[in-house]
Amino acid sequence: MLTIAIASLSGGQGKTTASLMLGRLLSRQGYPTLLIDADPQHNLTTYLDLELQTNQPTLLEFLKKSVSAENSIYPSEGNENLFLIPADDQLDTIQDYLSNSGVGATLLKRRLEPIANTFKVCIIDAPPQRSQICLTVLGAADSLIIPAEASVKGYGSLVRTLDLLRTLQDIGATDAQVMGVLPFRDRWIGNTQTHESRAAVDGMRDEVGEALILPSIRESERYKQAINRRSTLSDLGYPELEYPFAVLIDKISKLAKAKK
Ligand code: ATP
Ligand code: MG
Repeated sequence: MLTIAIASLSGGQGKTTASLMLGRLLSRQGYPTLLIDADPQHNLTTYLDLELQTNQPTLLEFLKKSVSAENSIYPSEGNENLFLIPADDQLDTIQDYLSNSGVGATLLKRRLEPIANTFKVCIIDAPPQRSQICLTVLGAADSLIIPAEASVKGYGSLVRTLDLLRTLQDIGATDAQVMGVLPFRDRWIGNTQTHESRAAVDGMRDEVGEALILPSIRESERYKQAINRRSTLSDLGYPELEYPFAVLIDKISKLAKAKK
């Protein structure tokens, strides 16, 4: 199983959008895919229409190992290759558990080991803060996708995320490598990119190099439509907007093969 964290240390950078769209497309292409909602805001769980009763197991119980792994993994309706370990508000209570455990950074990685042969790809939607949850997510990842808004705020989010990654790599708390930086809400007026978007993406390129800059997610209502209708962009008639994900899936398939 190739484990990919989608992380970016600010709110509204496209983490959940990218997690959901990648998960749907990968599973449709035949990859058994596990999504993990690692954000106590649990937007990913909501978008997948999983309505949990308060006593049903989530990522919290999965991390604490108070239920078997199978019991915290839920199938997604209408897609036999897509599964979810959900979250709810209670996930926040894991922060103390992680920091007191002494092995917080490696805990999720450990917990995923027994199910590594069940799935081909695991995608983790990280929370926006530099929290204990974020550390265990990065610790579990082989690869990292960093979505970042094509704005000053997004550039800052990228810089903080890279800084955290380097700190963790330096102390051996993660082996994750950056798969790509995904500019989000890139704004164009007709054929002209706005000045702010261009400056932000240029800044991102300076940080990570041309090879790691993925094609942008353009500012567009279509993505929200696809999410709200539980659909894909190509099913709505906009296959060209899916191009950034096609490029990512190509990278993922190569890495997944290499990992086998
Ligand atoms: P958080 O840190 O709060 O979890 P996030 O990084 O997961 O945020 P998203 O929830 O994926 O970010 O996206 C932020 C908002 O942008 C959402 O309301 C989403 O519907 C909207 N959005 C998604 N794609 C686009 C797009 N292409 N253009 C404009 N808005 C978009
Ligand atoms: Mg989110």
